[in-house]
Amino acid sequence: MAKETRYIFVTGGVVSSLGKGIISSSIARLLLSRGFNVTIQKFDPYINIDPGTLNPYEHGECYVTVDGHEADLDLGHYERFTNIKTTRANNITTGRVYQSVIDKERRGDYLGKTVQIIPHITDEIKSCVKRLGETGDFDFVITEIGGTVGDIESLPFLEAVRQLKWELGDKCVCVHLTYVPYIRAAAELKTKPTQHSVKLLQQVGIQPDILVLRTEKEIPQAVCHKVAQFCNVREGAVTQSVDVPSIYEVPLNMHRQHLDTLILEKTGTPYSGEPDLARWNKFLNQMREATEEVRIGLVGKYVELQDAYKSIDESLFQACTYNDRKLKLRYISSESLTDGNVAEKLSGLDGVVVAPGFGQRGTEGKFVALKWCRENDIPTFGICLGMQCMVIEFARNVLGMSDANSAELDPLTAHNVIDLMEEQKSITNMGGTMRLGAYACHLRPGSRVAEAYGKTEIEERHRHRYEFNNEYREVMEQAGLKCVGENPQSHLVEVVEMPDKRWYVGTQYHPEYSSTVLSPHPLFMDFVRAAIKYGSERDASSAEQ
Ligand code: GLN
Repeated sequence: MAKETRYIFVTGGVVSSLGKGIISSSIARLLLSRGFNVTIQKFDPYINIDPGTLNPYEHGECYVTVDGHEADLDLGHYERFTNIKTTRANNITTGRVYQSVIDKERRGDYLGKTVQIIPHITDEIKSCVKRLGETGDFDFVITEIGGTVGDIESLPFLEAVRQLKWELGDKCVCVHLTYVPYIRAAAELKTKPTQHSVKLLQQVGIQPDILVLRTEKEIPQAVCHKVAQFCNVREGAVTQSVDVPSIYEVPLNMHRQHLDTLILEKTGTPYSGEPDLARWNKFLNQMREATEEVRIGLVGKYVELQDAYKSIDESLFQACTYNDRKLKLRYISSESLTDGNVAEKLSGLDGVVVAPGFGQRGTEGKFVALKWCRENDIPTFGICLGMQCMVIEFARNVLGMSDANSAELDPLTAHNVIDLMEEQKSITNMGGTMRLGAYACHLRPGSRVAEAYGKTEIEERHRHRYEFNNEYREVMEQAGLKCVGENPQSHLVEVVEMPDKRWYVGTQYHPEYSSTVLSPHPLFMDFVRAAIKYGSERDASSAEQ
């Protein structure tokens, strides 16, 4: 039977980076744990069609969905919290909304009419919200509106929310997230920015139903009462999200304040009992109890950016937690690495990850790191560009091809061990034209990776233009770099490994996009196990000396 869908909108005010994505994901987790069917989507007010053309300085990591959409990193949080695979339909930008409206205008769909923001753009936004609900598959559609209330570019989205609230009545709830700063000099928590933010929302015709106050310090009940009164929100519907050591604690914190039942009651949804958070709690307990550390180095060029390698950080964290260890992650700028300092910069690490990326900057440092890791037999994981750098370093230093390179980094190299994919050669547009999304991969039986997955047929997500050049396959294999994963149709090499090393694996795909709290990725699990083993062997041998 088709479900009667309810709609939850999550908006934000005062400042950005409050963690709307985490709150939205936490709501999804709680409702799922109560047995409801949920989906979650993000609307981004920028004009880019997708974030694929933004660099990480602008917008953090670019996440990739199974159906090959380059998406906002919040979709990564959604998947990690919910285990639900998102698609293109879960991430809409202003650019996509306008593109669709303009395409309709050219087709003549609005013939005779002036095409305007209201109603045409807002109708398009509304239909994107409702499209997921109309499938009849979901009890709840959660829609996170990017940006902050008061931004010019958010206005059409908020107008669409206002209209939907008016049309859907009790089937709709608006959760507004704001910031309550603590002013040290006055030793006081200040709610005025929250009051202003709610006023801005009211000015565009939206009365929030529930407030989530983000704060560094616990907000006293009397202050929440004052906020409720001034913001016209029901007593008890002002919740707070205090900084916690891990984002995965947030669902529990919000459940303690009844955020899930507030939503269920507001939308008239029958419920009983408590959410089943047994597995979630087990993960959190493992996380809290872990004391021993695993020291992992992440070599990349965006190390100063907190969100640039978000999915890798989270995948490592999940794998460490499941192995009862605390992740100690050291970011190492690939640009700063030289043969002279690599031993010092990578000293004491139990494992090294070489990050994905684009362009020349920092790649020479990746080769330096990989040479050192290979020669010293440190567990090493190369992802996408990291895998390509593994192949190049091997060609240079083991096969003696000193100019070996990727055609991306040196188009004139005589040894293009990584080359532009055939189907990429005719491509001129940059947006959405890489090899994107999930592709099948066959793993060689008996290989380290096949053992780690416990199977030989897998599917993983991609985002790249260049590939392993199959002309070099035989010489690489003979010299010890085995091509143990390939696409069954195109025979593109997807995984390389050195079986005579402790753990030396490179994947052309991105396993980090599919690691979740409840299903940590098998390769990250195996890599972390190898790192733990190496760390204890090394500690034991240094104790003997
Ligand atoms: N720049 C490389 C390519 O396009 C690798 C991409 C990546 O690391 N995501 O193939």
